[in-house]
Amino acid sequence: MSRPRLATVWLDGCSGCHMSLLDMDERLLDVAARADLVYSPLVDAKEFPPDVDVTLVEGAVSTEDDERRIVQIRERTRILVSLGDCAVTSNVPGMRNAIGAAPLLTRAYIDNVTINPRIPNVVVPALLPTSRPVHRVVTVDVFLPGCPPSADLIYAVLDELIAGRIPDTSGLTHFGA
Ligand code: SF4
Repeated sequence: MSRPRLATVWLDGCSGCHMSLLDMDERLLDVAARADLVYSPLVDAKEFPPDVDVTLVEGAVSTEDDERRIVQIRERTRILVSLGDCAVTSNVPGMRNAIGAAPLLTRAYIDNVTINPRIPNVVVPALLPTSRPVHRVVTVDVFLPGCPPSADLIYAVLDELIAGRIPDTSGLTHFGA
């Protein structure tokens, strides 16, 4: 049997979920021995590849770039996992939803700035009107809440997925820290 192709993606999150992934410590070696990490902020691949078996997604969908990426990732992934509360509920990025994108940008880049106030329109991707959980944009197969999910939990879920099974996370997970 060929080794599963694994990816991790960082959308609108703080990277804390990826830090928790790294907290698996020596269990990272076990994952590396059983699966190929084909795309991640932790490796050098620039383009999300086709035929990925499992993708863990950290963060909410907050920008046009996030939206374009997650649609392509869904098309190229067999099992998509929402990793952490930002992916599952929009959590911290969603705190701006009641404000609206335009007033938020005005507050951040005009009102609170004394030198060269200007809303960026190059390099920084355009904000969507609201920040959405991943499953509001594409179909999600496994939800892994927590802020962040613990390393033990991430390993337990990866262990099942790499073995070709869909993990039952009910009773294992909770929201928040
Ligand atoms: S769920 Fe928590 S740790 Fe993960 S990206 Fe969001 S704020 Fe950071």
